[in-house]
Amino acid sequence: MRKIQVIKLKERDFFGRELAHNVVLVIDGDGVTMIDTSLPENFDSLAHQLKELNLSLEDVSRVVLSHSHPDHVGNAEAIRRISGARVYAHREENFTQSNFNLSYEEVNSEIPVSREEFDRTLERINQIKMDLPRIDVKLEGGEDISGFRVLHTPGHTPGHIALFDGENLVAGDAIRNENGLMPPLRFFNWNNEMALKSFNFLTSLPYKRVIPYHG
Ligand SMILES: [Zn+2]
Ligand SMILES: [Zn+2]
Repeated sequence: MRKIQVIKLKERDFFGRELAHNVVLVIDGDGVTMIDTSLPENFDSLAHQLKELNLSLEDVSRVVLSHSHPDHVGNAEAIRRISGARVYAHREENFTQSNFNLSYEEVNSEIPVSREEFDRTLERINQIKMDLPRIDVKLEGGEDISGFRVLHTPGHTPGHIALFDGENLVAGDAIRNENGLMPPLRFFNWNNEMALKSFNFLTSLPYKRVIPYHG
């Protein structure tokens, strides 16, 4: 039987607020697929929550990365080393150490934040230490992984992907939930116009349940 589980994790102090991370597990006869992996600081919590589901990191056979941001990629390489999981990501996505160059005004116009909290968060997210993942399988869109169809949804990043199985839509950062479904924050987007197009495309799908990574 195929089962979908959401592991809820938290990122503290994200521009003065707490940010939810939803790591999705697909458990089927073919092993465990993990969609996104949260931050290195959540490694223990991730392992703990797997244990509560009678699973372990060793059971993970596939890691699918919606995109390259550290809050999604943070534990991918560590999990690959532990379990031998194969890591999947879109071929147009660029995996490098994070270097966000954000302006206070842009961030503050979307999520009101004090100057001090802005500086602290920007410094933190630019100093996240993680091993960059080795990508084993480069996706184009249209592939099937554990019952999900891969959808290329560029905009937030060039190679952002979402996953849809006809009922469940795992949206990564292409949709966020903040008292309703919203497109991703403008100041984090690579291309806003494309991000909106991808958002409109995804929200038009005949899903029963949306699982945005944040919210
Ligand atoms: Zn992102
Ligand atoms: Zn994110």
